[in-house]
Amino acid sequence: MFRCEAYAAPANDKPLGPLTIDRRDPTPEDVQIDILFCGVCHSDLHTARNEWGMTTYPVVPGHEILGRVAKVGSSVTKFKVGDLVGVGCMVDSCRVCSNCKEGLEQYCEVGNIQTFGSPDRHLGGTTHGGYSKSITVYEGFVLKVSEKLDPAAVAPLLCAGITTWSPLRHWKVGPGMKVGIVGLGGLGHMGVKFAHAFGAHVVLFTTSPGKIEDGKRLGADEVVVSKNADEMAAHTASFDFILDCVSADHDINAYLMLLKRDGTMCLVGAPERPMQVAAFPLLMARRSFAGSGIGGIAETQEMLDFCAEHGITADVEVINIKDINAAYERMLKSDVKYRFTIDMATLGAPAL
Ligand code: NAP
Ligand code: ZN
Ligand code: ZN
Repeated sequence: MFRCEAYAAPANDKPLGPLTIDRRDPTPEDVQIDILFCGVCHSDLHTARNEWGMTTYPVVPGHEILGRVAKVGSSVTKFKVGDLVGVGCMVDSCRVCSNCKEGLEQYCEVGNIQTFGSPDRHLGGTTHGGYSKSITVYEGFVLKVSEKLDPAAVAPLLCAGITTWSPLRHWKVGPGMKVGIVGLGGLGHMGVKFAHAFGAHVVLFTTSPGKIEDGKRLGADEVVVSKNADEMAAHTASFDFILDCVSADHDINAYLMLLKRDGTMCLVGAPERPMQVAAFPLLMARRSFAGSGIGGIAETQEMLDFCAEHGITADVEVINIKDINAAYERMLKSDVKYRFTIDMATLGAPAL
């Protein structure tokens, strides 16, 4: 075990601040990683403020982890010291249930071990995330990262990337399909990039008129300002698939009406409060309302490899860890272009 500098939320109504935590020395199957960058996901904020009612304090958020291997356990085969690697939202699962065996560890039947806030099987207490200098992870949940891309901009792929990639792949988004992405934040901007890369006709829905030009630059063929009812109505019954990446209360039914017969709207955004879903938009055209959670390890590697091949990364604003509380406030104002990434060199001294 060794001590490690981190940043934590001490309570739901307190700002994040420095905390020293314990990390385990690698077991034979573990990889110890020096963290270089960590993306800032809206889930970090939901958790730090206990908006989902499940937080154990103190919590060290962060599940878009990018770093270099510092040590490997004796039986590790996939990685060596110095490799550039990533860790996303999970650090382990049961490894044996049918979902895990299918590579869908995010749907592990006994529950996956989340990067932060899950019971820590090794040290007791809860797991701590990537707002820290170092993390030790079972090699099966560590991803290989290409040296070709900017590491600060790769970090958000570990959550925002895979969370949008997985449903776009599952619903086979591709050429000839009209696809909507709702909300141009961290997830949404990756959704736009991927749907565009897969060859779909991409329509971005935003509440922020100031994001129209960026939406197009990122790959949207059209941008709709969702507060404008006429603009919305012009797209009635025309979409094959809509991916909803919104973090707060909004009207789902307005989007369901935009789906074609048999179209699907998939929720990846996780607002605090339950939402109202009207029956008629669904049953009038056999529409589906679905959800999707992050992605499995194999498909995360597939996504990272695709990004390396196609030069796709997140658009990031690199921040000092001391600015994390201000970054949360900006995130709440939809003022992120389009993902904050913490430069972990700004936090304390290197792990021993
Ligand atoms: P984010 O960067 O804050 O982006 C959210 C975007 O939603 C904003 O940029 C804004 O886009 C739009 N928005 C915000 N408030 C809105 C409102 N009241 N009405 C309509 N639109 C609004 O957040 P994120 O990190 O992308 O995360 C988005 C959500 O996904 C969060 O709830 C997060 O917890 C969840 N999440 C889920 C998974 C999963 O596995 N399913 C994984 C990661 C994150 P515009 O300015 O363009 O309108
Ligand atoms: Zn996330
Ligand atoms: Zn399992």
